[in-house]
Amino acid sequence: MPELRPVRTHLEIILEALGPLPPVTRPLREALGLTLAADVASRTDLPAFTNSAMDGYAVRAQDLLGAGPASPVALPVDGDIAAGDTRWHVLAPGHAMRIMTGAPLPEGADAVVAVEDTDGGTAEAAFLLAPAPGRHVRHQGEDVRVGDVVLRSGTLLSPGHLALAAAANVPELEVIRRPRVSVVSTGDELVPAGSELGHGQIVNSNELMLAALVEAAGAEVARSSHLPDDLEVMREVLLDPPGEPDLVLTSGGVSMGAYDTVKEALGGAGVVEFAKVAMRPGMPQGFGLVGPRAVPVITLPGNPLSSLVSFHVFVLPALRRLSGLDPEGTARFTAVAGTGWRSVPHKVEYTRVAVEASPDGLPRVRPFGGQASHSVGALAEASALAVVPVDVTEVREGMTLTCIPLVGQDRAHVL
Ligand code: AMP
Ligand code: MG
Repeated sequence: MPELRPVRTHLEIILEALGPLPPVTRPLREALGLTLAADVASRTDLPAFTNSAMDGYAVRAQDLLGAGPASPVALPVDGDIAAGDTRWHVLAPGHAMRIMTGAPLPEGADAVVAVEDTDGGTAEAAFLLAPAPGRHVRHQGEDVRVGDVVLRSGTLLSPGHLALAAAANVPELEVIRRPRVSVVSTGDELVPAGSELGHGQIVNSNELMLAALVEAAGAEVARSSHLPDDLEVMREVLLDPPGEPDLVLTSGGVSMGAYDTVKEALGGAGVVEFAKVAMRPGMPQGFGLVGPRAVPVITLPGNPLSSLVSFHVFVLPALRRLSGLDPEGTARFTAVAGTGWRSVPHKVEYTRVAVEASPDGLPRVRPFGGQASHSVGALAEASALAVVPVDVTEVREGMTLTCIPLVGQDRAHVL
């Protein structure tokens, strides 16, 4: 089937037309899950000052030489230093000061003895060990030096990254905002869930699936709407997409039928190129830059499983590119076929599989539910797509396969 376009070629065409969105400045609290667009340098040493790692006593190590459980050494205690004490203290030779975790070490002290290794005295304390210099002391700058780059441009910001930026005394970050995506489903046969279904009508499941995938992937839904198979309406909406989206996803209307209105509306205008891609499901694909703002439009096939697969194969990398991330960095894992199954020749097949963890090695996958492009029943238990390469027509039990986890599945782990 030489007329089929390889998956990789179609993906490259999409990615080459896209670049990262322009950077914006955001406070730390609004930066979770965004991509850092500039290196972050620490504005302070970390720790910013030498301080105690324990609740105990600041001492000079040499004042406690020979101290032990059987030979305690007593020192007078000159008061307390709590965390947040901003005064400069000096430890007199032959004395100790009570000190709390995170409190600045007084000048002259070189070790901290934990309260457990003393009698806990307040006017005078008996010490049951001889600390080495530096014991329980966190030295200024031992973790990070002022001016050190602590986060690199391109980092996808996690809670830990935000904590590091905050500790480095950097209150706001240059980031790439979440891409805003419009979802447009099409088709005269479609009605909202909960409707009285007339003969020939089906529920519009793609619109909400695509919107949910967009959100689960960390992007924003700019608009979600449905259009009838009316060429005029479609041209009006799609040729200048409202709501300033960074990307438009359509579903349906791109096959070979007589009412493939998306294809007619956008292909006729010469702005979207339609192709048959060597994949199953999801063969009919289209992509182009549309309207005065050159908005990228990815036209997904209408069959629900085709739409789902196309989202993972083309839309996710596109969202990553817009977000300033490596588009090739989408999640993948390796699994073993837990059973055999047949696959079509000349096309990459994305088999909907249930995944079973295996204690002794790679997870095992098996096809779940019908594998037709309209078989939504598979979505009950399938949590990944097993990628069966173009040249493989028969998956054998025990064969190793690359798998794509379905976006949003991992949320189950936090509930
Ligand atoms: P089309 O590409 O418009 O011919 O659609 C292909 C198949 O997918 C048809 O059976 C449609 O009824 C179905 N379909 C299209 N859009 C949706 C949708 N939003 N939700 C569920 N099924 C759809
Ligand atoms: Mg249709």
